[in-house]
Amino acid sequence: MTMSTYMVPFLDLSIHNEEQRSELIAAVDRVFMHGRLVMGPEVDEIERIVARDCRRRYAVGVGSGTDALWMAMRVLGLRPGDEVVTTSLSWIATANAIAMAGAIPVFADIRCDLNIDPESVRRLITDRTRAILVVHYTGRMCDMQALSEIAEEHNLALVEDAAQAYGASLNGRPAGSFGNLACFSMNPMKVFAACGEAGMIVTDDTEQYERLLALRYNGCVNREVCIEPSTNGRIDTLQAAILLTRHRHLAALLKRRRSNAARYDKLLQGVVDTPPIAPGEHAYYTYTIQADRRDELQDFLEKHGVETKIQHPILMPEQPAYSNRAVNESVNACCLQKRILCLPIHENLAVDEIKYVAARVCEFYP
Ligand SMILES: *Cc1c(COP(=O)(O)O)cnc(C)c1O
Repeated sequence: MTMSTYMVPFLDLSIHNEEQRSELIAAVDRVFMHGRLVMGPEVDEIERIVARDCRRRYAVGVGSGTDALWMAMRVLGLRPGDEVVTTSLSWIATANAIAMAGAIPVFADIRCDLNIDPESVRRLITDRTRAILVVHYTGRMCDMQALSEIAEEHNLALVEDAAQAYGASLNGRPAGSFGNLACFSMNPMKVFAACGEAGMIVTDDTEQYERLLALRYNGCVNREVCIEPSTNGRIDTLQAAILLTRHRHLAALLKRRRSNAARYDKLLQGVVDTPPIAPGEHAYYTYTIQADRRDELQDFLEKHGVETKIQHPILMPEQPAYSNRAVNESVNACCLQKRILCLPIHENLAVDEIKYVAARVCEFYP
C-alpha cells in the first residue's frame, strides 16, 4: 500500500487504518457542515487544549511553526542591531525568525545531547543581547534551569522553539511552559501533527497575547483597524479539526515512540552512540544516533532498504544566508553534525522493523 520504495521508510504519512481515516474524515466533515471555515469553533477548542497542556493562559493558533517563531520574535520588540542567541543546530526556521524580526542571530555551540550549551550562551552575551531562543532538539528538553538562570541574570527574554517537543517534559513541567513564549509546529512530520501546515504560540502575558492576535491577522485589531504591518498567519480550521482528533491519540502515540526508542537503545548499545539518557520525558521527534563513518552507514542502510535522515546536514551559521555575518561558537556542533543520523522511529514501526534496522546497523560495524 505504501508509495515508498524503502522496506523501512523513515516516515509514511499515508493513512490506511480504517478507524483513523473515518475519524479524521468525520472531523473534517463536521467543519463542512457548520461552514465556519475561517477561525471556526475548532480553533478555539484546540487553542484551549494546547494552553492547558502547556499550563499557559493563552495559546494562539497560527499557520506554521515558522509563523509561530517569527511572531514570537516580533512581540519581543527587537530593534535593528539587537542580538538573539540561539543554537547552531536546528531547522533554519529558527534563525530566520530572528532575522525576519529585524535582529541578529548569534549561534551558540551544542552539547553531546545536541541541545544548546548554556556555557556557550553565557560567553556570547553582549550588551546588545535581548533574548535567548532555545530549541528542544529531537524532542529532548534543553537544560532549562541553567538557561532560565542566565536569562534572569541578564534580563533577557527566553523563548522555546518547541516545534519538535510537544509532549516532552522536564521535572514534570511540559515543553512550552518554561519560556516567556513558546512555539510549536504541527506540520505533518511532527509528533503532534496536522494533515497540513499548522503552528501554535503559548504565553501567559495578556499584552503579548493581544499583539499575537493582531500579528496573525495582518496586524489588525477589531477586524479592520491595522496597528502594525504583518501577514495573514491564522491557523486553518480544517487543520484545527484534525489536531483535535489527533490529540485524543497523542499520549498513546508518544508511548509508542518511547518504547521504540527503548528497543533501539537496547539493540544498539555499544555499537553506536545512542541518544544519551534524557532528563525528563523525551518526545522522540527523531531518534538520532551518533556514528563513525556516518555517510557510509547511511549508504549501507539505504542499500538494505532502510531510509534514514541527517537532521540537519548544514549548521545554521554555515547556511549561505548567514555564513558571511554569523557570530558563532560551534566547535562541538561541527563535530557532531558529521556523526548524526536519524533512524526511523515513527509510531507505526513494527517491532520486527526495529530489529531489522538495528541488525543492519550491527552488521555494518562487525
Ligand atoms: C519544524 C520546525 C520548525 C518549523 O515549523 P514549520 O511548521 O515547518 O514551519 C521550526 N523549528 C524547528 C526546530 C522545527 O523542527
